[in-house]
Amino acid sequence: MDDPFRFADELGPLKLVHIWRPALGLKAVVAVDNLACGPAIGGVRMAPDVSAEEAFRLARAMTLKNAAAGLPHGGGKSVIVGDPKMPAGDKERLIRGFAAAIADLVDYIPGPDMGTDELAMGWVKDETGRALGLPRELGGIPLDEIGATGFGLAAAIEVAAERLEMPLAGARVAVQGFGSVGKHAARFLAQQGAVLVAASDSGGTLADEDGLDVAALIALKAAGRRLADHRRGQKLGGDAIIDIPCDIWIPAARPDVVHAGNVARLRTRLVAQGANIPCTEQAEAALAARGVLVLPDFIANAGGVICAAVEHRGGTEAAALAMIDEKIRGNTRAVLDRVAVDAVLPRAAAIDLARSRIERAMRTRRWEH
Ligand code: NAD
Repeated sequence: MDDPFRFADELGPLKLVHIWRPALGLKAVVAVDNLACGPAIGGVRMAPDVSAEEAFRLARAMTLKNAAAGLPHGGGKSVIVGDPKMPAGDKERLIRGFAAAIADLVDYIPGPDMGTDELAMGWVKDETGRALGLPRELGGIPLDEIGATGFGLAAAIEVAAERLEMPLAGARVAVQGFGSVGKHAARFLAQQGAVLVAASDSGGTLADEDGLDVAALIALKAAGRRLADHRRGQKLGGDAIIDIPCDIWIPAARPDVVHAGNVARLRTRLVAQGANIPCTEQAEAALAARGVLVLPDFIANAGGVICAAVEHRGGTEAAALAMIDEKIRGNTRAVLDRVAVDAVLPRAAAIDLARSRIERAMRTRRWEH
């Protein structure tokens, strides 16, 4: 059996909780990584192929993201093994069962992630009394509906594009994963004149170098259809999104999609990480060596968690968007300044920024560390 402490380092994880309810068919893992800045917040992911390692790595990304964003929260994450498209009744039963199992894990506040949504957070709140990213009717700011993460990603891209002296008007964008993050990033960038030349979902890639109609694709997805069902554009395999020549490439689906084996195929100037940990370390180094700027996930995709933290304090949607804009632009500038001065990788600059905040918080704590 694997050593359960194989992930442990000076930051965490403080708790790695395995949940198994045979009668429900519930298999889940919660990683509470670090609590120095405050109670952990982080999403609940449902996918058929998730693992404890994925939970830990995503929780660590949340520790760094929350600290980088200057939020009074630590990092956590949970993964539930299951097909998110299972029948609605089965999904509610599984998520309620998961919520009941974490009722006592009071230093972890769940939010939505891949495969879960505002409604699911409503069930979690009903079972445990705590959840973020709630439906509007429960006092939430529905971050996926308003596109909080896509909005922040577009703000980070705008800052990076200025540094690259690349006008957004006319910039060619390719998006892998046309869900909450990907479709809203495409929408906000299109508002600035950027052109969506390709997008992919789990059914494949849709490409059109003359530009895809973002609003039509969003409507298609809202109707439960696949991008491949769109009447225009070239229909390609899922992996083809990697090969699309573009100025801005946005991973907004799964981890480790860009790795040593395919990084040479990317032809872009900027990789803006909407997904968490979408590139391996080797791939990020290879991109930097080729002069491709990579905006690290926990700086660029913090919009959702900033929105959730504003919701937690009873703030409004307008306040959340203003805070996302201010914090993400400020952090992106800080990271790019450090990269320009010290010639470090953007991720290293971002980690230093976050770690220095966590270490200062840890010095104020007695037992947590
Ligand atoms: P989502 O479930 O709304 O959308 C995911 C999209 O990816 C869907 O269109 C799906 O069809 C597609 N997809 C799945 N597997 C794919 C594959 N192999 N190739 C291409 N497309 C694929 O999820 P989301 O909320 O948009 O999250 C996407 C990523 O962004 C995840 O890594 C998540 O952790 C991260 N993230 C989300 C938020 C948020 O606010 N929702 C915030 C920060 C980070």
